[in-house]
Amino acid sequence: MSQASQESKELLFALAGNPNCGKTTLFNAITGARQHVGNYPGITVEKKEGRYSLNGRQIRLVDLPGTYSLTAYSLEELVARDFIVHERPEVVINIVDASNLDRNLYLTLQLLELGVTVVVALNMIDVAEGRGVRIHAEELSKRLGVPVVPTVARRGDGTESLLRAAVETAQSNPRLEPVHISYGPDVDPVLKEMEKIILDHGFLTGLYPARWTALKYLEEDEQVKTKGRQLDPKVSEVLEAMAAKLTEHIQKTLDSYPEAIIADHRYGFIAALLKDGVVEQRFKGNRLHLSDQIDRVLTNRFFGPIVMVAVLYAVYEFTFTCSELPVQWFETAFGALGQWAEKAIPEGPLRSLVVSGIIHGVGGVVGFIPLLFFMFLAIAFLEDTGYLARAAYMLDRVFRVFGLHGSSFMAFIISGGIAGGCAVPGVMATRTLRTSRERLATLLSAPFMNCGAKVPVLAMLIAAFFTENRAQMLFLLTLLAWVFALVLAKIIRLTILRGPSSPFLLELPPYRIPTFKGLMIHTWERIWQYLRKAGTVIVAISVLLWAMMTYPGLSASEKAALDAARQTILEGLSLEERVLVTSEREEALPPQVHEARERLRAIEKHEAATALRASFAGKMGTALEKITRWCGFDWRTNLALVGGFAAKEVIISTLGTAYSLGNVDTDETTSLSERLRHDPHWNPLVAFAAMLFIMLYSPCFVTVTCIVKESGSWKWGLFSMAFNTTVAFIVATVVYQSGLLLGLGS
Ligand code: GDP
Ligand code: MG
Repeated sequence: MSQASQESKELLFALAGNPNCGKTTLFNAITGARQHVGNYPGITVEKKEGRYSLNGRQIRLVDLPGTYSLTAYSLEELVARDFIVHERPEVVINIVDASNLDRNLYLTLQLLELGVTVVVALNMIDVAEGRGVRIHAEELSKRLGVPVVPTVARRGDGTESLLRAAVETAQSNPRLEPVHISYGPDVDPVLKEMEKIILDHGFLTGLYPARWTALKYLEEDEQVKTKGRQLDPKVSEVLEAMAAKLTEHIQKTLDSYPEAIIADHRYGFIAALLKDGVVEQRFKGNRLHLSDQIDRVLTNRFFGPIVMVAVLYAVYEFTFTCSELPVQWFETAFGALGQWAEKAIPEGPLRSLVVSGIIHGVGGVVGFIPLLFFMFLAIAFLEDTGYLARAAYMLDRVFRVFGLHGSSFMAFIISGGIAGGCAVPGVMATRTLRTSRERLATLLSAPFMNCGAKVPVLAMLIAAFFTENRAQMLFLLTLLAWVFALVLAKIIRLTILRGPSSPFLLELPPYRIPTFKGLMIHTWERIWQYLRKAGTVIVAISVLLWAMMTYPGLSASEKAALDAARQTILEGLSLEERVLVTSEREEALPPQVHEARERLRAIEKHEAATALRASFAGKMGTALEKITRWCGFDWRTNLALVGGFAAKEVIISTLGTAYSLGNVDTDETTSLSERLRHDPHWNPLVAFAAMLFIMLYSPCFVTVTCIVKESGSWKWGLFSMAFNTTVAFIVATVVYQSGLLLGLGS
C-alpha cells in the first residue's frame, strides 16, 4: 500500500475498560457526544460509535461495554471480546482506573494475552493523587511494553496525547507477541501440550493465539468451545478431555479448579509488575479514608438497611413536596386549554377529537412532568454520589436468597425500583449478569417495578383516593413491587429456572460529589425518554382509542328517538323560553325552563354514555367485565388497561377520555382524580386493587419486545405477558374480595 492511501484510511479505535473507569466520559470528551454516564455497570450495554479527526486523519471510535474480564461469562464480555477479535481495531485503548490499578490491570493483561495492540489510558489520576498515590507512567509503560498515557477524562486532560499515542502506535503497526504468563507447575505443562495440538491443526488460529485458545478450554469458555466443535469436533474433543483431566487433578490435589488457579496467577503477575518503582504511596490520603469511613456506617450490617430505607423514603418526600405546586399549574393550564378549545371549535367530531382525544390525553401525560423531574433528579443524585452501588452491594446478600444476584439490583432500579425509570433499559441492564438463569429471572421480574410510566397512573389514583397519605402510599407500593418481584423471582428460580448463583463482582467507587451539569443531563435524559413516548406513541394511541370510543356511535333509530324526546321537551315551552333554555344563563331562570334544561341534560348524558358503551372499545371493555368484576373493574377501567399494554402512560389518557365522554355536564376543568373520586363505581378499595393490577400486569409491548430480544426467544416474551397478567389478576382479586368481606368497598 502506498504511503498516501495508508494515510487516508480511516482508523478504528476501541475503548475497553472496567465498568466505572471513565470510558464513557472519555468517549464524550473526545467525540463531543453526550452519552449517558452511569456509576454502575448496565448503562453501557451497546457499543457506541463516534468520529474524530486528528491532523486530517479520520478516526472511528467505539465505546465497548465495560468488562472486568474477557472470558465469556456475561454478554458484555462477549460483546467486547467479539468486537476486538472480529473487527480487529487498529488500537484498543484500554482505560485503566489509576485509583484501582491492580484490579483494572486484570483486563489489560487479558488484552495483552490476546495479542491485540493496546494503548493504556491511565485515567482518574486526580483521584489516585488525592489519595496520595503517584503512578510512574513511563515505568509502567516499560513493563507492560505498551504506551501508557495519564488522563483525567472528566476534565478532558490528556485526551490529545492519548489519541496522538494511539495514532502513532497504529501507524507504526507493531507486531506484538501475545504476553506469556506462567500459570504454575500444574497448568503450564498441560497448556503447552494443548498449544502444540492447536498449532498442529491450525485450530482457530486465524482468530486467537494458540495459548489463548488453550486457556479458554481450561476456563470452560462455552463460546470458544462451541466454535471449536463446529470447526473440528475431533480436536475439540481432545482438548476438552485434556481440560477435564486437569480439572480433576487440580480438584484432587489443590481442592480448587483451573479458573481460580489462572486468576491467582494473573493477580500474582500484576502484583509483581507493580512492585518497586511503579506505584508510590506519598502520604496517607484521606479521600479513600473518608469513603471508607462513610461506608463503615452506610454499608454496616445493621445501619446500612435502615439508612437505605430512610433514603428511599426521603426520595418520595422530596418528590411530592417539591412537585405539588407545579403539578397543579399544569393541570389548570390544560383544563383552561380544554375550555378554550370547547369554545373555539364548532360542535362536532373535530371538537370531540381535540378536546377528548388530544388535550385530555396529552394533558394527563404532560401534567406529570414536574413530578417525574424531581424524582429523576433525586435518583440521579444517588447514582452520581456512588450510593446506588452501595445499595447493590448490601442487597447482594438479600438477592442471593431469592436466587438473584447483586447486579440484579441495577436492573430493578433502572426498571423503576425507586419508582421512575423504565423496564426497557432495565431489561437491557441484565446483560451484566453472568449465568443465564439469573439473567432470565431478573428479566422476568424487573418489569414488576414501578416504571416512570406507571408512576403517574399510581400518583393519579393516590391523589384521588389517598390524599392524606400520598408519600406513604407510593412508598408502600414501591415496597410491594420489590416484594412481588423477589418472591416471584424465587418461585421462578425454584421451578422453571433451577440452578446455583454466581459470585458478586462489583466494586464500590469512592463517594463523589455530583456535578450540577451531570445531574441535569441525567434528569433530562429520563424526562426526554418519557416525553418522546408521550409525543409519539401516546398521541397516536390516544387518538386511536378516541376513535374506538366514538365510533360506530348510536344507530339512526336511537338518535331519532332521542331527538324526538328533545323535541317534545322543547315543544312544551314558549318561544322565549326556548331561547332561554339554550342560553348560557344560569341564575334566575323560571322554574319550567330550569326543569326543561335538566331534562335535556339528562338526555344528553344518557346519549353519551350509551354511545360510549356501544362503541368498539365499550364492547371490548364490557366483554371483559365478566372476568374483571372479580377484582372490581368496570368496562372503562378494562379499556384503559388494554390501552396500557401499548404504554402504561396511556392508562391515564384513556381513563381521561372515557370519563370526559361519559360526563357531559361536568366542568371541564375538574381533573381526572376529582372525577374518579366522585364516580359511584370508584372507591379506595377499587383504586387499591387497580393500583396492584397496574403494578403487576403484562409489561408494555416495547418491554416485551426487549425481553424477546434479550432472551433470544418469543417464548419468554409471551410467558411474561401471560404470567404477569395472571399474577396481577389473582392479587387484585384476592385484595378486592377480602376488602369486600371486611366491608371496605364503599
Ligand atoms: P464507564 O462506566 O467506564 O463508562 O465510566 P463513566 O464514564 O460512566 O464514569 C464513571 C464516573 O467517573 C463518572 O461519575 C465520571 O464523572 C467519573 N470520572 C470519569 N473520569 C474521571 C476522572 O478522570 N477523574 C475523576 N475524578 N472522575 C472521573
Ligand atoms: Mg459507560
